Amino acid sequence: MVDATPVPSKPEDTAQGRFRAAGRGPWHGVPPEQWDDWRWQLKNRITTLAELERHLALTPEERAGVILSGSRLAMAITPYFFNLIDPADPTCPIRRQIVPRIEEMSFGPEEMEDPCGEDRSMAAPGLVHRYPDRALFLVTDRCAAYCRYCTRSRVVSGAHGHLDADHEAAIRYIAAHPEIRDVLLSGGDPLLFTDEKLDSLLQRLRAIPHVEFLRIGTRIPIFLPQRITPGLVDILRQHHPLWMSVHVNHPRELTAESRAALARLADAGIPLGNQSVLLRGINDSADVMLELVHGLLLCRVRPYYLYQCDLIRGSAHLRTTVREGIDIINDLRGHTTGYAVPQYVVDGPGGGGKIPLNPEYLLAHDGDSIVLRNFKGDIYEYPEAGRPAPLPSRPSRRHDEIVCLGLD
Ligand SMILES: *Cc1c(COP(=O)(O)O)cnc(C)c1O
Repeated sequence: MVDATPVPSKPEDTAQGRFRAAGRGPWHGVPPEQWDDWRWQLKNRITTLAELERHLALTPEERAGVILSGSRLAMAITPYFFNLIDPADPTCPIRRQIVPRIEEMSFGPEEMEDPCGEDRSMAAPGLVHRYPDRALFLVTDRCAAYCRYCTRSRVVSGAHGHLDADHEAAIRYIAAHPEIRDVLLSGGDPLLFTDEKLDSLLQRLRAIPHVEFLRIGTRIPIFLPQRITPGLVDILRQHHPLWMSVHVNHPRELTAESRAALARLADAGIPLGNQSVLLRGINDSADVMLELVHGLLLCRVRPYYLYQCDLIRGSAHLRTTVREGIDIINDLRGHTTGYAVPQYVVDGPGGGGKIPLNPEYLLAHDGDSIVLRNFKGDIYEYPEAGRPAPLPSRPSRRHDEIVCLGLD
């Protein structure tokens, strides 16, 4: 007897089943209790050419990159994240994010050490106070793994410089500035701290009455999901309202492991956002971006920002044009769930802060009305408030009434 209704026979056939486990790969002999221990993952990171070559056949560009780029930004790859690389594909989007290449040592005239001008906006060591009501608190210069396009490669990883952080001075500054209602902890990666250290830092910030809103920027749920332990989550939930921004660039980063870590955070009531960087050959197509943002929604992560890649020294091979970024947003907006569409932003080079970029939906604005297009390209006219178009049935209308007039 055959059931007429197609029933998914394997988890792979469902939307949820897209999250495959990374597996232990070359570390298959390692017992699961070690593999699942975030300290083991950190201790066994790939940081040298010899270790990398033991597991991956490098191209000449990568080999030279590993040898030469160590003075710019250290290489570090957790075994877990390494296993997401497709060893047969030199253009693998995971590989290109974390394996150094020789192009990192070519510096263009437009590129900068400090593309977002953060050093100039430091109110205290490690504290960037650029926007009126919120501050960026760089609490550490270490990450679980290093993104080759890191906007803070001048201070992160310890290879080139280091972050001059002073938690006491930063907390004193925040406490003395009642206009700061939002503190964003970033780095480096704040979730590399021990539970105790993170708890104490969050407590100190929570004790400041005018700090309403705390958030953590982290890539740990992606590079080192083992770190998101029940114990850590129990600490984080003590400090609500606490929000978190994660960093996922490609749908392949959403594995069974990272999805479980994100679920633990979401279950603790932590609203999750994602910040992606638009990267050449990695996520610079509407198809990849759609798969990514749909996967994020299934993980209860709201796509927040899509960043145009900053003008970091040695990043030309990873940057796209701004036009490509706008075109991708144009292919998302209206074509899929509004929650899935991130805001595309460019950080104004040298310290302008985040500037939103959008496809042009406003086609004309002549004072009496505006002419708009929708996501399909259809044209609509909307009369400006104060200059109502004649409407015989309602001689007097309030300014805030909405009237939609099609051109046809
Ligand atoms: C990105 C950023 C923030 C936070 O900006 P939001 O738009 O509120 O997410 C704050 N300070 C600095 C310096 C930043 O770069």
